[in-house]
Amino acid sequence: MSSKPNLSIIIPVHNEEENILELYEKLYNTLSLPHLIVNTYEIIFIDDGSTDSTFEEIKKIKNSTVKVVRFQRNYGKAAALSCGFKRSKGDIVITLDGDLQDDPKEIPRFIEKLKKYDMVSGWKNKRQDPISKTLPSKVFNWLTRSITGVKIHDFNCGYKAYNSYVVKNINVYGELHRYIPALVYWKGYTVGEIEVEHHPRIHGDSKYGVERLLKGFLDLITVTFLMIYKKRPLHVFGGIGILLGLSGVIMSIYLMVLWATGLKIGDRPLLMLGILLTVTGAQFISLGLIGELITNLRNNDDYIIKYDSYEMENGR
Ligand code: UDP
Ligand code: MG
Repeated sequence: MSSKPNLSIIIPVHNEEENILELYEKLYNTLSLPHLIVNTYEIIFIDDGSTDSTFEEIKKIKNSTVKVVRFQRNYGKAAALSCGFKRSKGDIVITLDGDLQDDPKEIPRFIEKLKKYDMVSGWKNKRQDPISKTLPSKVFNWLTRSITGVKIHDFNCGYKAYNSYVVKNINVYGELHRYIPALVYWKGYTVGEIEVEHHPRIHGDSKYGVERLLKGFLDLITVTFLMIYKKRPLHVFGGIGILLGLSGVIMSIYLMVLWATGLKIGDRPLLMLGILLTVTGAQFISLGLIGELITNLRNNDDYIIKYDSYEMENGR
């Protein structure tokens, strides 16, 4: 057995027809370098519901190292990455965008840095995108860094490298691909960072506009919550519920004592408050229980696959 690791490269693509072949060529050139420190490699394209000829372009590549999984529709980058993570067989997993903005020549640097960390995130310091994207991204990164305590500059960079045990242990869904370093960090893994060169997008359009910003922001709330309750919603909602409910019950007991001594309680604001708090408390506790159930039941693979070269290979 070779002492060099096997590498899986995952590329989520949505309408990138003009970029596929050029990207493959660049990858091939980098991966064929004699000094590259990998044994074998596989390139996994996840066609995230493209409506152009992206899939046909991928199929043109006649090389068994190239796999393609095609989604039934556009499920988003997080679903695409999650699917790629599940398929990957390498000891090292690298993700990069399929729009040629990430340069394959950085791969050896990622692999080198990965010797010291469980995961390495790319940092597009000189990002080649319009200010309408770079400015919100700076705010996002600052917020995420403050909330999560993960001290890296660029959470959302698509270019990342992982030791395989990391990707097998994280759940990326919704728009959570923006926060992968945070998810990884909370599992107890170490997260490193390297600065990567970033090229402007030449072909095709960016898939992320203002509406995705809002989604991303809502997911930041999710991430913050995940951090607080570490997957135990009952511990948060239940705690709030007990606090509210208990103060409601105490108020009610106090009112009952007054009532028993013959005093009128009907026109006291406390009566309203007591009932309100007791009921709200009970609701919070139930919310926690439901949250707990959902957390345990959630299936992250809610995408439908139209074509899967792994299954084709196995003759299924
Ligand atoms: N992408 C995807 N599904 C989507 C949106 C984007 O797989 O719903 C892919 C896209 O094809 C590209 C990568 O994710 O390979 C990054 O997308 P994009 O370049 O549009 O994002 P930006 O660089 O503008 O943040
Ligand atoms: Mg891009």
